[in-house]
Amino acid sequence: MLKSINMAKLEIKVYPDKVLRKKAASVRRVGDAERKLSRDMIETMGAANGVGLAAPQVGISKRIIVVLDVEGSGQALVFINPKILKKKGRSRVCEGCLSVPDVTSDVVRPEFVTVEALNIDGEQIKMEAGGLLARIIQHEIDHLDGILFIDRIGILKRKKLIKQLGSKVCMEL
Ligand code: ZN
Repeated sequence: MLKSINMAKLEIKVYPDKVLRKKAASVRRVGDAERKLSRDMIETMGAANGVGLAAPQVGISKRIIVVLDVEGSGQALVFINPKILKKKGRSRVCEGCLSVPDVTSDVVRPEFVTVEALNIDGEQIKMEAGGLLARIIQHEIDHLDGILFIDRIGILKRKKLIKQLGSKVCMEL
């Protein structure tokens, strides 16, 4: 019950919405607005069966991401002003994105990352992540810089995907 009072589902912006291409602004102070946004993002991610969500995806150009701790607790983690300090290894995994519906593609990324951020209480945290969690963190941080996973694949594959997306946009018009 508490959940439904305090949380609200937000609208997810989809490609080619311009907000997805903007570089998001750093959060100066973690206050009530940032905490509410983080909680709403967790709610929105859950409702969409996502494993990660970045604030620009709900139309808010702030450096806040939420990720599901798929390799550990299964709980949602909040990273504010996240920064990757170290990267290691390389892996290829199929990715999709709530903002780029119906398309997926293999993306090559570092396999392990060390990330520094503020948590929902405004405290500095540092975390080492590997596997799927590291992948989600990198995908979501990309969103803060206006980068989509389709930017990280080969040009031929991208052309094919854009064509697919383009025809989809046309059909929706
Ligand atoms: Zn995404």
